[in-house]
Amino acid sequence: MKFDSLIIGGGLAGLICGIRLQQSGQRCAMVSNGQSALDFSSGSLDLLNQLPNGENVQYAAQGLVQLAQQQPQHPYSLLGAETVLAKAAQFERLAAALKLNLVRGGQHNHLRLTPLGALRPTWLSPASVPTFDWVDKILSPQKVAVLGIEGFNDFQPQLLCDNMQQLPHFQQWQIHFDYLHIPELDHLRNDAREFRSINISQALEHKLNFQQLVAELKKAAQGATMVFLPACFGLDNDDFLKQLQQACGIKLFELPTLPPSLLGIRQHRLLQQAFEQSGGIMMKGDSVLRAEMHENRVTALYTRLNEEVALSADHYVLASGSFFSNGLVAEFDQIVEPIFGLDLFSQQQRSQWTHRRFAAAQPYQQFGAKINAHCQAMKQQTVIDNLYAIGAVVGGYDAIHQGCGSGVAVVTALAAADRILQEKSV
Ligand SMILES: Cc1cc2nc3c(=O)[nH]c(=O)nc-3n(C[C@H](O)[C@H](O)[C@H](O)COP(=O)(O)OP(=O)(O)OC[C@H]3O[C@@H](n4cnc5c(N)ncnc54)[C@H](O)[C@@H]3O)c2cc1C
Repeated sequence: MKFDSLIIGGGLAGLICGIRLQQSGQRCAMVSNGQSALDFSSGSLDLLNQLPNGENVQYAAQGLVQLAQQQPQHPYSLLGAETVLAKAAQFERLAAALKLNLVRGGQHNHLRLTPLGALRPTWLSPASVPTFDWVDKILSPQKVAVLGIEGFNDFQPQLLCDNMQQLPHFQQWQIHFDYLHIPELDHLRNDAREFRSINISQALEHKLNFQQLVAELKKAAQGATMVFLPACFGLDNDDFLKQLQQACGIKLFELPTLPPSLLGIRQHRLLQQAFEQSGGIMMKGDSVLRAEMHENRVTALYTRLNEEVALSADHYVLASGSFFSNGLVAEFDQIVEPIFGLDLFSQQQRSQWTHRRFAAAQPYQQFGAKINAHCQAMKQQTVIDNLYAIGAVVGGYDAIHQGCGSGVAVVTALAAADRILQEKSV
């Protein structure tokens, strides 16, 4: 089977790259073996929150200049600030066209409320989550209810409420917490594994009496003008939340729960649909096992379900994620990229993979594939001409401490797609 481009991995990076290529007339296939980091994410996308020296980043353009000095091997530094900002803006336009329903963006970070009641900088957030301007230090008075669902442990309203009350921003807010009593969910409570956001959302949206739910929400809100809820209201989008909001006459917001995270799952579903609707071929539930190479080019891939059939393309994109998605594998004495055996940023000695303090920046977070300024991957210090590495499989940065995971995913995805399209037109 021959394609223009073959993409390994159907997370944020692979999907954005695939959508861009399909929309530009390429014939792409994507091999994707399951869930991605999106299914566990907050739904907010970080571009760059912190520099290696610990300084917070408020304006991306300024942060990128400092980043280039402090961390020249960071993918943003390799691509250059101008390209990063152009690709970030391109992603915002794409997200709007795909109706991902993201707000804020631009070069200024905003603050989002986390489910633990802290404020965290980020770049783009779902329209349904509570966000604040960076400069808002003390917010004007509001009466707010934080409502959990009785028996649902993946969202703790009391903890959120207590922590919010510690922050100066909310000192003029009157905040209380309570739980929604929904006896119709009792059948899910019999099995703790069933009482998760996905199952709850299906029951709330499709099996429950809407008017009863509205009445319960209004009662628990106790006259609040804003209500913060766990993201369990609407599996595919926030339409159900909007219907509830209209019926209650109260402004409703959602906060991420412990995974599975509906805010990220909605994005994953929408992106998959967009890729397939644009004609992309999705090979779900399959894994790429090995590759064939000739000189500095990849010539074919072989997958678990089609071990005898070679998949070939002009261009190959590795978007297989980090350790979390098995894009990188930790063996006893080395870190490997299992499909191509790429050159990696990593430490030789196992004792240096981790920092003994759990909360410190962990060295292994920066492990991953070495790329050049066009996102081409390298093996034995030689660039592989038609193989691009994008997203979390790329090394040289710390997605958690620097708050740049989604940004790197979309920026490298669009940069690699551009390069592929340029090569095609030559
Ligand atoms: C738990 C978690 C939560 C996060 N939350 C946030 C957040 O809230 N905000 C934020 O900005 N960033 C967050 N991040 C950072 C995240 O890394 C990026 O946001 C981004 O989603 C990474 O996308 P990716 O496509 O590169 O990798 P992934 O999302 O990991 O996707 C890789 C995909 O490749 C597939 N794959 C791997 N190997 C193969 C193979 N051999 N064959 C076929 N398929 C394969 C995997 O199954 C997976 O589907 C989070 C990361 C994690 C791990």
